[in-house]
Amino acid sequence: MCMETKEEQRAESVSFVEEIVKTELEAGKNGGRLQTRFPPEPNGYLHIGHAKAIAIDFGLARKYGGVCNLRMDDTNPQKEDTEYVEAIKRDIEWLGFKWGEVLYASDYFGQLWDLAVELIKRGRAYVDEQSSEQIAEQKGTPTQPGINSPYRDRPAEESLRLFEEMNSGNMEPGRMVLRAKIDMANPNMHFRDPIMYRVLNLPHWRTGNRWNAYPMYDFTHGQCDYWEGVTHSICTLEFVSHRPLYDLFVDWAKEVGGDDHPMHDNRPRQIEFNKLNLTHILLSKRNLLILVKEGVVSGWDDPRMPTICGFRRRGYSPEGILSFIDKIGYTKFDALNQMSLFESAVRDDLNQRAIRVSAVIEPVKLIITNFPEGMTETCTAINNPGNEADGTHETVFGRELWIEREDFMEDAPAKFFRLGPGKEVRLKNSYIIRCPETDCCRKDADGNIVEIYAEYIPDTKTGEANANMKIKGKTIHWVSCRHCLEAEVRNYDRLWMVENPRDEISAYSKKTGAEGIDAMRPFLNPESLEVKKAYVEKWLSTRKPLDYLQFQRIGYYNVDPDSTPDNLVFNRTVGLKDGWKGK
Ligand code: ATP
Ligand code: MG
Repeated sequence: MCMETKEEQRAESVSFVEEIVKTELEAGKNGGRLQTRFPPEPNGYLHIGHAKAIAIDFGLARKYGGVCNLRMDDTNPQKEDTEYVEAIKRDIEWLGFKWGEVLYASDYFGQLWDLAVELIKRGRAYVDEQSSEQIAEQKGTPTQPGINSPYRDRPAEESLRLFEEMNSGNMEPGRMVLRAKIDMANPNMHFRDPIMYRVLNLPHWRTGNRWNAYPMYDFTHGQCDYWEGVTHSICTLEFVSHRPLYDLFVDWAKEVGGDDHPMHDNRPRQIEFNKLNLTHILLSKRNLLILVKEGVVSGWDDPRMPTICGFRRRGYSPEGILSFIDKIGYTKFDALNQMSLFESAVRDDLNQRAIRVSAVIEPVKLIITNFPEGMTETCTAINNPGNEADGTHETVFGRELWIEREDFMEDAPAKFFRLGPGKEVRLKNSYIIRCPETDCCRKDADGNIVEIYAEYIPDTKTGEANANMKIKGKTIHWVSCRHCLEAEVRNYDRLWMVENPRDEISAYSKKTGAEGIDAMRPFLNPESLEVKKAYVEKWLSTRKPLDYLQFQRIGYYNVDPDSTPDNLVFNRTVGLKDGWKGK
């Protein structure tokens, strides 16, 4: 029996969404066509939740020879911006996906308007002049039928005239809405004469002043899917209860379109999966925008943000992100996944791709007393023990080195396998060294150790005669004092101290009346960023922003885009082990 590789196992575990798509394709539904769409609202940067939707929308299209369009859901002109559109495209590409076309819900405003007009004529829609409070009062409850609006049966001509007025720019927002005439007693609340159009009187960044009345999401999404030829409209579970309305509006669009419509035999099928939900992070662009605006973080791409660009800057790879999404899968039940599971997937991924380098973050000087002053030796460092193709780079060894303070103990117990009186360790990619039994360090007036002394043992480098000498000590990392660079190291930790910030913020807000950033502050981790100076090997000045690195024995790091040859900046992506103890 042969062992399956990880890839093969993954390929076989097919989600229920994929199962549906596969079965329909095999049955020749939609003429054997597969078309999906990813429909972000351009009101912020994409976050890790969107990556889950992207992975299935684009992933299925790619796997089954279909196409996935990028459709900007731009029906809320007050919150949207081209900056966000560009950022969304950048993030999708970085994740490794390609769209068919870039489309906008606003491309369909004309068609949606015409459809609405036709529906009014057919007695399927009416203009309601009640206030939103009155409409809400008449809605009823899931167990109690609602009440018909007094405007429900007004003549179509009247509604048509008022609908035009809604779009004239002369009507104040909220005065009137266009509603679908469905069923005020339907157990599905979405059927109780849902609003199709509202007055906003705002210019739109794409359509300018053409529209003053704008369609609602429910009256937009299904028809756009249908007109575009989408076969599978994959979304998240909160839309389950909207599905019957989605289907009804598609029916109406088909009916109005008539038999000669090219897509007449095809119709999109909405399928819902569970949202990605992680501990210790807060999603939703609306909330993330607050953090950006209030300066809690440095921007949308702050490495503490759960945005795709934040994770990119932090040093997560697209493969690491997608492998985590693959692990948690797609189900029909909401769940809360542990952040540590995500971090562990990222660690596994970085273990395969990170270049191993030396950096000393809490330095103390080590003097190799038997190594001549002024002399240097070149050492070869293997870039990645898991991948020979990544090659090697050179480091310089000399008499004075920086090592981590915690790698030396003056009163070292027997089980301390690092430096101390009489103890031996190997210096990574270099010699075995030994501290003398006495006088192995020098202290300042306050008793702090300022220098450590050791002798190197000749011929103990890899490939030399005594290379295999057995010692009890570990291998420690180091950099040469005269051949290293000072760098800024940004050690990031979780932004939120609590497991479920969304719920905690909302409970706190209810209790105290605090809103926005004030409701968030008590849950922010005051230690989410620690900036340190470090000594790093010189070769690191040749690394480019976003290169994946492992500071050996410390953690995974990458080069921050702020980094310059004169001022190197590194971000901690994730520790070598799970270091979160709770705060
Ligand atoms: P947010 O509240 O963060 O703005 P949204 O759902 O309003 O999220 P959209 O831009 O409207 O964001 O969503 C684009 C697509 O991404 C939708 O299909 C949506 O269902 C999906 N999506 C959003 N959040 C998640 C999530 N946490 N997990 C999986 N898919 C998500
Ligand atoms: Mg939204």
